[in-house]
Amino acid sequence: MRAYIGLGSNLADPIDQVKTAIGNLQSLPDSQLIAWSSLYASPPMGPQDQPDYINAVAEIETALSAHQLLDALQAIEQQQGRIRKRHWGERTLDLDVLLYGQNEIYDERLQIPHPGISLRAFVLYPLAEIAPDLKIPKAGEIEQLLQHCPRDGLRKLEKILL
Ligand code: ADP
Ligand code: MG
Repeated sequence: MRAYIGLGSNLADPIDQVKTAIGNLQSLPDSQLIAWSSLYASPPMGPQDQPDYINAVAEIETALSAHQLLDALQAIEQQQGRIRKRHWGERTLDLDVLLYGQNEIYDERLQIPHPGISLRAFVLYPLAEIAPDLKIPKAGEIEQLLQHCPRDGLRKLEKILL
């Protein structure tokens, strides 16, 4: 299955956290890292008294189920010493399953497509960078969504090399 992972960090050297996480995605079981976006910097959502976020999106091909993938991503979050202080607050690493093929999943652990996708600049812009022709279930063509999504202070940084 083709899946897209959203990465975010705003603590403990966020650029390094996101780079390390993309490296860790290379080692996911039964999966292959296909592509990853540039890094982006964005102002925080929610509480404003926290550092800017570093975001990126990665594309994988995986034989894991969506729930196995979530387990594996949560293990990477833990491995990188995830700290989360408050809702929408600062964190060392957040890994979200944005899309799992064209599947729609809604249960107590997973909502896919991730509910934030179509409104969040820090998800849409990096996602469109690696998948410009993507179609998102229930939301439509990414190109259309981008046209209605202001950049909101999002800044494109470097493209990282692994
Ligand atoms: P958030 O990413 O919303 O800021 P967390 O990363 O702490 O918050 O995630 C809280 C819970 O969100 C996780 O325990 C997970 O079960 C759930 N969740 C629901 N849908 C998804 C998804 N698509 N990707 C990752 N986690 C998800
Ligand atoms: Mg999360």
